[in-house]
Amino acid sequence: MTNQYKSTKDHIPSIKLRGYERVGYPAPELFGVRLPVNLLTFNLCKTQRDVFLHVTGHSMPETWERYYGRVIHTLYQEILSNILKIVGANSIGSLDLGSSLTNLRNTILASSLRKHRDVLKKVKALFESSELETLQAKLKSDMEKIFCYEKGLSSALVNFELSSLYNQSSGNPLFQKTFALSAGESYNAHVLGFTNPVTPDFRYKNDVVGDIKTGPWRDYYYHTLTAYALSIEAHTRSPVDCGIILHVQILDRTVPIHELARFEVIDDFKRKRFLMIRDEKLRVAKEKVDPGRPVSSKECEGCGFYNHCWEDQM
Ligand code: SF4
Repeated sequence: MTNQYKSTKDHIPSIKLRGYERVGYPAPELFGVRLPVNLLTFNLCKTQRDVFLHVTGHSMPETWERYYGRVIHTLYQEILSNILKIVGANSIGSLDLGSSLTNLRNTILASSLRKHRDVLKKVKALFESSELETLQAKLKSDMEKIFCYEKGLSSALVNFELSSLYNQSSGNPLFQKTFALSAGESYNAHVLGFTNPVTPDFRYKNDVVGDIKTGPWRDYYYHTLTAYALSIEAHTRSPVDCGIILHVQILDRTVPIHELARFEVIDDFKRKRFLMIRDEKLRVAKEKVDPGRPVSSKECEGCGFYNHCWEDQM
């Protein structure tokens, strides 16, 4: 990804549609209507009925897949924030990221699970206990694999940087050079029609935003990056040109698979496409008229509202 960052940065087309320009604001009649970014960027629903259901008080049912995705997502955030803390708090002479992370292993894994205990309670009712045990064992094993992989990768990167820093006495230059990363920062993008706060998964070198995804690949993931870039621009008034989709799959092997991970320029084409959809969704939220469902239930596969919308055919 780092090499891709360098080569892509040299070829960024001119981007005009920034989050801090009025041209990115919603149509005047939609001003003041706001939706959460996850709903604006979830573009599975052809009719935008998911927005109608949301604004009329229906919440998407919890499923194992949603629970799994949240835990893995939180795990990455926990690993990243701990790496940043360790690297920032130690001098170069004493820094041993691999050992520090090993010591924190149980705390990090337990914390990621604890944060979604309430969701697990709702999901439990959907399964027989033996089935649930199998799913939980798989989740824990997947978490271990991610932790081991990220621990190995991040400590190797830090050690590589350490090996080239002979005269430095503080950890900070190292921190800035190797991990020009930040995580968990929130942005205000009310002007774009987004509910506050907007919290991207991570940022890299200020002009790159990152999003972590699990589950099958969806083309609308590009919308999430675009919405994050526009939000940061609206809040900070500085450009965000690129995005990383850190797509994670855990199959029957030790190392997680990032085959579908992407480094993308968030160009005007992506921005225009997303803003068109945003206006469509804000209009449904404003008018609160049921747009109905698509002709075929096939178009709804993977949507959390499936059972609600196709109840008559189940
Ligand atoms: S089930 Fe279909 S119609 Fe209903 S919200 Fe989901 S995608 Fe839209």
